[in-house]
Amino acid sequence: MKIKTLSSQRFPTTLPWMLPIVLVLLFVAVLIWLPWQAQRMETNERQEQLIADTLWVEQALQFQLNRHQESLSNIAEDFASGKVSVEVLKARLNLYATNNHEIGELALWDVRDKLVASNIESGTKSPPNSLIEALQSNANFTQKLHKASCVKSQQQVATLYCRFPLFRDTTYLTSVTVSYRLQTLLDETVPWWFAQENEISLLDQDEKILAKRAAAGAGKNVYTHNRALDFPQLSLSLHTNSTKAEPKLLSNLLVVSVVLLSLGLVWSLIALWRDINRRLQAEGALRKEAMFRAAMENSLITGLRARDMEGRLTYVNPSFCKMLGFPAEELIGKLPPMPYWAPEEITEYENRFAQILTGTVQPEGFETIYQRANGERFPVLIYESPLVDENGKQTGWMSSILDVSELKRAQELSRQQEEKLHQNARLATMGEMASMLAHELNQPLAAISSYATGALNILKQSDQVNTLSLTDALEKTTQQAQRAAQVIRSVHQFVKKREASRALFHIQTLLQSVMPLIALQAQSAHIHVQYQIDPDLPEVFGDQVLIEQVILNLTRNAIEAMHDVAYAKRQMQIHAHLIADPHLPHSRSLLVQVIDQGHGIAPEVAEQLFSPFFSTKAAGMGMGLNICRTAIEFHGGSLKYRANPAGGTVFEFTLPCDAHKDDLHKE
Ligand code: ADP
Repeated sequence: MKIKTLSSQRFPTTLPWMLPIVLVLLFVAVLIWLPWQAQRMETNERQEQLIADTLWVEQALQFQLNRHQESLSNIAEDFASGKVSVEVLKARLNLYATNNHEIGELALWDVRDKLVASNIESGTKSPPNSLIEALQSNANFTQKLHKASCVKSQQQVATLYCRFPLFRDTTYLTSVTVSYRLQTLLDETVPWWFAQENEISLLDQDEKILAKRAAAGAGKNVYTHNRALDFPQLSLSLHTNSTKAEPKLLSNLLVVSVVLLSLGLVWSLIALWRDINRRLQAEGALRKEAMFRAAMENSLITGLRARDMEGRLTYVNPSFCKMLGFPAEELIGKLPPMPYWAPEEITEYENRFAQILTGTVQPEGFETIYQRANGERFPVLIYESPLVDENGKQTGWMSSILDVSELKRAQELSRQQEEKLHQNARLATMGEMASMLAHELNQPLAAISSYATGALNILKQSDQVNTLSLTDALEKTTQQAQRAAQVIRSVHQFVKKREASRALFHIQTLLQSVMPLIALQAQSAHIHVQYQIDPDLPEVFGDQVLIEQVILNLTRNAIEAMHDVAYAKRQMQIHAHLIADPHLPHSRSLLVQVIDQGHGIAPEVAEQLFSPFFSTKAAGMGMGLNICRTAIEFHGGSLKYRANPAGGTVFEFTLPCDAHKDDLHKE
């Protein structure tokens, strides 16, 4: 369910993805358009400013020229009225020209165009003549009744000449002529602030520059404007060319902030994209992990269950449900007693859970009985471990449960097979011993026969003197007969078909019962056997015959290992001591050692020592040690070997003394 939700989140529909992309594109487009628009607005604003300023300058020029015309017309009026003398008029003309630097020549003419007064001193080239020349060279001046104007350039200095006629009613009275130095006119009239930002020129109708003012350098030809100036019969134009360049895109604060914003946006988008990618990756890994876990849980044959601290089931895997025959829904959320508890075991379950709650967990697991939905009981092996949340707090317990009924069946089968194997091994050992037995029994029987013959002879002589010798002979006969009987009994004991049975027994008793057999083997190989058995050894619980067989196998191997050593070294020792159990603290074990001084064990032999059918002997079966180890481990002990410091080998095994008391009660 969870996985399905995750995968549907992974492939979102196109729209939620497209929308932010479209919005981001729109935003970027607006960001690009804004500075461009801002630049355009600034350009327009500058252009408009230039037009307004140019208009202002034109007005100023026109005003200045109109003012001159008006003042000069007043002087002409005074002349026409005849009230003012020529001298005064001349002085006024001089004064006027001096006060207005742009004015070059001034002249007053009477009705017959004769010069009345001028600001130019006579003597040089007659200025009025130059004025007249200038005026008359222009065709328009021939009509003296009209206002007229023209421009003359001499040595790159342009001069504007104007004539203003004066009429009373329709009668022509007089006229004034004036020449303006156009450069001075510009310098005087155009304000400094305007000249600082613009190049101002006066152009004639052929666009030729007549005068120019460029206080702050040449214009940039970006913002320009032309304004026509009206003069009688003449058209001039005022041209302004701003020194300002086009507004720079990046110098604009808005642009800078927009660029910064865009960069920030791109950066945050990249960071967001990376973050989303990381999240997607983590989500993918999580999904993979969840699927892996689900597959693992489903494929497990081990049952899994989780419980909270109150013992409530919070999780069960399919295997657990299958094992018990209950569906998960019937189990999850259940508090003890559980439906799979066998009623007769309830007290044990409760005790066990109380133990778990106190934190006592058996790492090796514990065995108990569960009940399937159909009422069938079956053995289970349970391992518990604490469930800890992300804060390190324990929230419950996780258990894995193994159905060990098959295992138990297999163990029982293997036990039966082992028993058969042991039986066969015993028979094989017996076969080997049969010949020795025949040989050994020969001795006591021969002795019995000779003692009996001796006794008969003594009886035939039958006198008092021989009574003692007869008693002695008969005692020895009895002893030898008993020995022969004991040998036969122990062989019988060893080979008789028996069921595996475990019981408490004393190791001393066991050793005493196998001593004749060991002695039998040892004597024929000329080996001296020594026993060292601690007094008051505790009883052990186990299969006496199996342990006997282990001891006989070990002694037989020890005897065979000393086959080729010198007679003096043919010593075999059998020890039995009580030691602390190496596996369980506070428990005791019996340690039984078979020590020889034989050829020892080479490393290549050691590697396979316990492997079945491994033997270095020509007639060996190679099963002896393997069976011995299985038999000892079956009793909860261990079989080991080590080199004997005096030469040869020490084989030793342990048998726990206390561990099997419970088993004893069960049996
Ligand atoms: P088998 O006696 O039939 O060979 P075992 O399993 O009893 O089978 O022994 C396997 C091998 O271990 C022997 O062939 C021998 O080489 C070696 N071995 C066993 N006991 C001793 C010992 N006490 N000293 C030296 N070698 C030994």
